[in-house]
Amino acid sequence: MIPPSTPAFAPTPDPLTPARDITHAHFQAGDQIIVIKGVAGRELWGDSLRVVAPSWHTPTDEDGWRLYDATGGAQSYITAHPRYLVHLTRRCPDCLIHLRAMENHLLPKHRDPHALIDCGWYTTTALGQLVHVADARGDR
Ligand SMILES: [Zn+2]
Repeated sequence: MIPPSTPAFAPTPDPLTPARDITHAHFQAGDQIIVIKGVAGRELWGDSLRVVAPSWHTPTDEDGWRLYDATGGAQSYITAHPRYLVHLTRRCPDCLIHLRAMENHLLPKHRDPHALIDCGWYTTTALGQLVHVADARGDR
């Protein structure tokens, strides 16, 4: 993965992450995961984070995971829904299938080999909750 510099913002639909069927128990403390945010050159790009502990994901009112971002600065800890997370370190067929599907969906749309593209799916609330655009609600 190419380290984040200044991504170009290119809103792109993501029908795959909201439809993903993955349980909370699929992850555990200590797992290294990625939250896919876009495309860098010819591969997917995102934030690499470590799973810390179970935590309530208020935007969806469902069980989530607290994540540690070593490069996060003021927001080193965020809480995310399990379906935002993809395993990096463990050989995991479920997450691999999702990665491949995201590649097949996104790479044909962003063909510039030198571009860093933020597809604009995620925001982080003031309370450190990571929210996918499909889960964003007006009352929070
Ligand atoms: Zn997995």
